[in-house]
Amino acid sequence: MKTIFEKNTDTDGITFTDEGIKADFIDRRFLRESSCNLPNIGELEVLRHYNELSDRNFCIEKGFYPLGSCTMKYNPKVNELLASLDGFQNLHPAQSDDDSQGALELMFKLQEALKTITGMDYISLQPAAGAHGELTGMMIVKKYFESKGEIRKKVLVPDSAHGTNPASAALCGFEIVSVKSNEKGQVDIEDLKSHLDSDVAAIMMTNPNTLGIFEEKVLEISNLMHQNGSLLYYDGANFNAIMGYTNPKLMGFDVVHLNLHKTFATPHGGGGPGAGPVGVVESLKEYLPVPVVDYDGAKYFKKYDLKHSIGNVRDFYGSFGVLVKAYAYILMMGENLKEASENAVLNANYLKEKLKKYFTLPYDVPCMHEFVLSGENLKHNTGVSTLNVAKALMDENTHPPTVYFPLIVHEAMMIEPTESETKFRLDEFVNVMIKIYNEANSNPEKIISAPYTTPVKRVDETMAARHPDLKFTE
Ligand SMILES: *Cc1c(COP(=O)(O)O)cnc(C)c1O
Repeated sequence: MKTIFEKNTDTDGITFTDEGIKADFIDRRFLRESSCNLPNIGELEVLRHYNELSDRNFCIEKGFYPLGSCTMKYNPKVNELLASLDGFQNLHPAQSDDDSQGALELMFKLQEALKTITGMDYISLQPAAGAHGELTGMMIVKKYFESKGEIRKKVLVPDSAHGTNPASAALCGFEIVSVKSNEKGQVDIEDLKSHLDSDVAAIMMTNPNTLGIFEEKVLEISNLMHQNGSLLYYDGANFNAIMGYTNPKLMGFDVVHLNLHKTFATPHGGGGPGAGPVGVVESLKEYLPVPVVDYDGAKYFKKYDLKHSIGNVRDFYGSFGVLVKAYAYILMMGENLKEASENAVLNANYLKEKLKKYFTLPYDVPCMHEFVLSGENLKHNTGVSTLNVAKALMDENTHPPTVYFPLIVHEAMMIEPTESETKFRLDEFVNVMIKIYNEANSNPEKIISAPYTTPVKRVDETMAARHPDLKFTE
């Protein structure tokens, strides 16, 4: 290969000229006809531009981020340092097993750690996020019944479930059957029983569920499902509530996903990629996506020969950088993962008790790592909706909670403080919520027109999602 310093020479269809590089093998249609007009500015102006853009964003380092179900805990900076080590960052994923023993060892040991944490027998690190883990899990469920020659078309999903659950099952061709919640905010066993027949492949459950409530009848549910020949899928997005206390295996689940970016502290939500490892019980081992990482006592290697594998769900091993960060976090925390869950649950209960005097608490029971308030009464009395409260929080350097989810609570505000926050910050949040509540009552117009301090006020969310306009214009 000649270098660009040798002018007017042709190498494999690439010509280097004074005007630039011309690649003859690129179809004319894709070639630019005029200069692309890159801004010609100095480094300092570039830095100012990007700093200004980053100032417009909100992040956990800036303020409280109680976005329910998303576990916006602090992501230790040392994770980034480790993921950027030369041997990890510059290793090509197609490198041979011999040349990537360190990376394979890390993945193998992460699999082992996740086995301990979930109780599952086998783990695949491939899926790219929680929803992708669900899809992978549902593909496993589907193939499991196919290989047994059984036709089962239905998947049960509680009405409190995250929207990705029914979506993942539907993508696999399953018919979704919604199961009602009872007055305790838990799966209604009688309703569940009424749907059970030989056509039910699985139930997808989150425990604690999206109301932050532990499903006390989970063992009864897993027995009922197994007696029916059905499988149980565990949405592990709420794992931050239970680490070290219980696990999905003990609850009777067969397939599990974890959101490493939530529970195991890697930046997410516009801040970075995710990872959604899937764990299975012994009987489903042969269905996992390949390759899995294995160890023969001397060498770590990629294993492809799983009898019923659903195949590849992502290139190579998934989001390797996220795996490094999550493994670093798990090693640093060790047994203190249990304490992290303890504090996450304590913090949520503290906020719940403080705030229920102002906002309606539809399920007044001890919560796990999060809880759901309803702004319905406030809206009825003042005209101020949950959306308005969320927008007003943005003026108080606070990220809004998750709103209008779960769907079974009207005007829902789902609050998850995580273990990262001090009592000082929790009290600060309580005071801000009380301030907004009082203003909603005394001067509702003010809250209804919030936010006042953000770079953009209210966006058309449907348009923003369907037709994103990402151009930077003054
Ligand atoms: C976040 C979440 C998901 C989806 O996970 P992603 O990693 O965002 O794809 C699924 N279920 C629940 C309960 C969640 O909170």
